[in-house]
Amino acid sequence: MKIAYFDNNATTRIDDLVLEAMLPYLKEQYGNASSVQHKLGRQGSHAVEHARIQVAELIHANPKEITFTSGSTEAINTVLRGISKSYRTIGNRILTCGTEHKAVLTTCEQLTKEGMAIDLLKVNGLGEIDLQALEDAIGPETVLVCLMAANNETGVIHPLQEIAEICQRKGVLFFCDATQWIGKLPLNVEETPIDILCLSAHKMHGPKGIGALYIRRKSKPIQIPALISGGKQEHGLRGGTYPVHQIVGLGEAAHQAQQKFEIATLRDYFEAELLKAVEESSIPTKGANRLPNTSNVLIKHVKTAELMTKLPQVAFSSGSACVSGDRDPSHVLKAMGYSAEDAYCSMRFSFSKYTDREEVDSAIQQLKEAVAAIRAHSPIWEMYKDGLI
Ligand code: PLP
Repeated sequence: MKIAYFDNNATTRIDDLVLEAMLPYLKEQYGNASSVQHKLGRQGSHAVEHARIQVAELIHANPKEITFTSGSTEAINTVLRGISKSYRTIGNRILTCGTEHKAVLTTCEQLTKEGMAIDLLKVNGLGEIDLQALEDAIGPETVLVCLMAANNETGVIHPLQEIAEICQRKGVLFFCDATQWIGKLPLNVEETPIDILCLSAHKMHGPKGIGALYIRRKSKPIQIPALISGGKQEHGLRGGTYPVHQIVGLGEAAHQAQQKFEIATLRDYFEAELLKAVEESSIPTKGANRLPNTSNVLIKHVKTAELMTKLPQVAFSSGSACVSGDRDPSHVLKAMGYSAEDAYCSMRFSFSKYTDREEVDSAIQQLKEAVAAIRAHSPIWEMYKDGLI
């Protein structure tokens, strides 16, 4: 049986056109993009600059504002550590949120040992921040506001335009982790005054291990020192031999992402069918503004870990796959006020342009059977049905 794949927020299948674009740079055109003295090197260099234009076009930036990284984790480290260093004389506070990705939260935690103070915004039960609370929390010592565009676990969207305008008005830098947004929804940095943004190719049908950092250059000089020093690549901001094939893959993925594709209809169909098929299932974030591809599901008194062992042919996620070593319930759901019990019974289904109706129907059927099998032997479920808990 084919695996029904619903883990696209963890990673996506590479687009055939992306793979095709990459292959020549692994075979015939293998030159080092910095060796521009010869033709093979120049071919690599042209390919890198073409990809830079493709990435810039996707977010309406200038290609000069794009720096290639190994992905969003590196970009986040570069920005948080870099800003902490170079803005220390101005202030030592970073304002972020308890539902951010661990790449942000772990780095911030480490920075507190170096004298930074981290302020965490709270979210409501839907995972939404309060804009007035954001405005009030920006103090004279705040050097950076770091908020994601959309949450990887719930798909809940932060109001980017309003956040960016508040930061602009308050004169503080806004760094947006747009890893889950880019490739799913459009973004125009000419209209939305985000100062710094990161994106990652493997979330939008590109290869793993490559991403980009957008740093606004036009209106303000933003000082970010290199995290990885070495050669003069990327104007000294990111040393290391250009992985030309990866960069070409990111460029092509960005180009393909400009085309619109409809995912929400299938996601909504999945949710409607699941609620019909599985008793006491719910979509707690349904009332929030969400990514069109993400569904966070709660199945009462069915632990996701147990459900997964019964569903080897369905790929989905419990909390965040990026921290799947964690035994704790997801920090995102905890921040949203879920009980530990509900957090353990939550799961994420994330769709892509490749998800089809057959996969959805097959997953629903398998889920229905697995939940019934688990509940048939569950004393807790029996007590719950009898109204004892
Ligand atoms: N930020 C968010 C919101 C993510 O979902 C992820 C990956 O899941 C990352 C950052 C890290 O991205 P990368 O895999 O490119 O390091």
